[in-house]
Amino acid sequence: MKVLICTDLEGCAGVVSFEEQAYPDGKYFEQAKRLATAEVNAAVTALAEAGAHDILVWDGHGAGGLVYEELHPAAKLLHGRPLAPAAVRDAVFSEYDVCMMVGQHAMAGTVDGNLNHTQSSQSVEYYKLNGKRIGEIAQFALYAGSLGLPLIFVSGDEAACREAQALIPGITTAAVKKGLSRGSAISLAPAAAQRLIREGVARALASQAQQPLAPLSWPGPYELEIRFFHTHVADAYAQRPGVQRVDELTIRVRSDNIREIIYF
Ligand SMILES: [Zn+2]
Repeated sequence: MKVLICTDLEGCAGVVSFEEQAYPDGKYFEQAKRLATAEVNAAVTALAEAGAHDILVWDGHGAGGLVYEELHPAAKLLHGRPLAPAAVRDAVFSEYDVCMMVGQHAMAGTVDGNLNHTQSSQSVEYYKLNGKRIGEIAQFALYAGSLGLPLIFVSGDEAACREAQALIPGITTAAVKKGLSRGSAISLAPAAAQRLIREGVARALASQAQQPLAPLSWPGPYELEIRFFHTHVADAYAQRPGVQRVDELTIRVRSDNIREIIYF
């Protein structure tokens, strides 16, 4: 079995601050990266125990959110920005059988979603796909789904897990913290969070063997609407070909191919 793990930083236990932990100049950024790496390693441990022979970890945090030196030896790391061209990435990911997310947060606007945001915490009010609000879990699940990979496990705060279950009924989740608000949460201790992830990944694999989840796919054609907090961001997006300016703060883009717009 070949497994792709997409990681993020804001959904890890112990991470509660954008400024101090998620941004590269944050005082506790290195600490947050170590916490995220330990959570990823817990997932990799369970995968290796279950016999996965190819485990690719995709560092999904914009600025990089993992400590390479501490990566579990059974995993390989896909990192670096800007991202490789879409066709190159798609070819790599298509090689994998299933995918997982570790350290995930809920979509922007989720009231109990700790560090909730969608892509840019500073500029995006929402993403809507065909009229339905989506966050990064749906983005990744639909993107990977279009390449044939089902998303079978998500860890993050309780709100992220709830979002994953609403999107993909039957998915296995591990909630490592409970958001009380965007800026505060009750986190499990690191070792407890890691154990939950390790057990969750093992359960996800067992469940996938018995009752496989299908790759996520929504019927097209697709219309993605993005609303921003500031007009200058909408201005910049509106310059791009094929983009419709809906109002001062909102743009729309359409395609029959989900991969062309899901990370627009
Ligand atoms: Zn994120």
